[in-house]
Amino acid sequence: MLPDALGPEAQQRMLAELQAVIAAAPLYVPTMPRTGQPMSVRMTNAGPLGWVTDRAGGYRYQPLHPKTGLPWPPIPPSVLELWEAFAAYPHPPEACLVNVYDGKARMGLHRDMDEDELAAPVVSISLGDTAVFRIGGPARGDASRSLKLASGAVVVLGGAARSCFHGVDRVIAGSSRQVPGGGRINVTLRRVTSPD
Ligand code: FE
Repeated sequence: MLPDALGPEAQQRMLAELQAVIAAAPLYVPTMPRTGQPMSVRMTNAGPLGWVTDRAGGYRYQPLHPKTGLPWPPIPPSVLELWEAFAAYPHPPEACLVNVYDGKARMGLHRDMDEDELAAPVVSISLGDTAVFRIGGPARGDASRSLKLASGAVVVLGGAARSCFHGVDRVIAGSSRQVPGGGRINVTLRRVTSPD
């Protein structure tokens, strides 16, 4: 975890670019496979492939927004720069998942395993309110620890950490003024397909 990887001005530039993504590809409430239970985050994507989930289709990547039917907008330049700075991986990301957390949103412990290319890291950046992030080991029952991710913090899950369980226990409402109106925006970059 790299606290303060992005300074306040770089965060504002990224937030402006993300607002344009959200304008083109509106946030929606994803639902869980099988149960159809709504997730507590709101979600959208940028890039050639977006991560989606719903009752009928489960977890998957697809090129089209599930509500508008349109292709996802391109990954913004500031976000691509982040990948270039931190991924240490020679191919571009394909999926830029944008998760918006309000003060009650959380993310249960899970592993990112829907990608074919597990040699690429997962790079994520936190903007806005601080998240209480939890990271464990490769098995669900492994010991875990919690880390506070303040605005501008970057997390790289690569190598052995690529397959570790992680989640967000809670968001500390009102802890940042970076996002207008409050809340937390988390951007997660992933390579999905194997380049070879
Ligand atoms: Fe994840």
